[in-house]
Amino acid sequence: MQQPIKMERTGNPKAKPALTDMQLGFGQYFSDHMFLMDYTDGQGWHDPRIVPYAPLMLDPASMVFHYGQAVFEGMKAYRTTDGEAQLFLPERNAERLNRSLERLSMPPLEPGQLLNAVRTLVHVDQDWIPRQEGTSLYIRPFVIATEAAFGVRPSSRYLFTIVLSPVGAYFQEGLQPVDILAEAQDVRAVRGGTGSAKTAANYAGALRAQVEARAAGCSQVLWLDALERKYIEEVGSMNVFFRIAGHVYTPSLTGSILEGVTRGAVMELLDDWDVPCIARPISLDEVLEAAEAGTLEEAFGTGTAAVISPIGGIRWKDRFIPINGRQVGDLSQKLYDTMTGIQRGLIRDVYGWTT
Ligand code: PMP
Repeated sequence: MQQPIKMERTGNPKAKPALTDMQLGFGQYFSDHMFLMDYTDGQGWHDPRIVPYAPLMLDPASMVFHYGQAVFEGMKAYRTTDGEAQLFLPERNAERLNRSLERLSMPPLEPGQLLNAVRTLVHVDQDWIPRQEGTSLYIRPFVIATEAAFGVRPSSRYLFTIVLSPVGAYFQEGLQPVDILAEAQDVRAVRGGTGSAKTAANYAGALRAQVEARAAGCSQVLWLDALERKYIEEVGSMNVFFRIAGHVYTPSLTGSILEGVTRGAVMELLDDWDVPCIARPISLDEVLEAAEAGTLEEAFGTGTAAVISPIGGIRWKDRFIPINGRQVGDLSQKLYDTMTGIQRGLIRDVYGWTT
């Protein structure tokens, strides 16, 4: 039985940034309220509440600061062209959050608990959903270990929080291909590790390569497998797809890859369009050879932030391999238009993806 959510509205609403402004950026502004809920061993999840957005007070011995039990999600509420608010496949974020919690020995949420909290919070702060094309309200649920104690073991207390951030268009002038750097040294995740969970440490360990990629003029890292540095895993914090000779390939989920919600939707669309899409191991060599042979037609990343991010070229050691003349591919464009069309209510959602 879920407890009712207690409500404490702010008496002091913030001055909103210009929500029609494409310059919102990403994760720079936060709405008026946040959702909180506690977990205590023996008692389960309790005291769900919506309160004015404010700093959290945590004991410095809170286990999250020392042993890293921290998981999160990323999803969006979109303003449709007729002014409604809708979520895109929120059940899949809820399922993934529970898989992440399980991997980190943290307690799962009850069925429907995430969705109920997200819907209630978005409803309270609905004026924060921007209206302009490409904008949305980014939703960040996260769970951290709050027991104040040293000792490596699962915490007996947790805090579940959701905050909301109005975000601008990822691509302000239409889709723009980005260059990526295949990383030969660092790896993001190992099989049997935490790569398929959305946990903070995966992102901390990825920062060094990201900084190096930026310094080399690339906007994302192309991650290779930990064992052989041979197979492609993900690109930055996106899943990756390649179109080679009319077939679309994406790395199969081996345990070190995060299963993206966008990845799943893209695979469903391709299936519906009768475009063959195969999930299997893909080596970097295979992709480079296809580029040389002229059969690599396009490549793109998929994720909640950008939806579809075309790849303009791959930097690997001292080579640079351009893809599709650094132009946006037809399939990337069609996928982007369809996905964002459904999210904005411009295209009828025959897939049942929106809530
Ligand atoms: N891989 C990683 C490592 C990510 O952080 C994300 C973003 N959540 C994705 C892939 C894409 O997932 P989604 O489509 O659910 O946003």
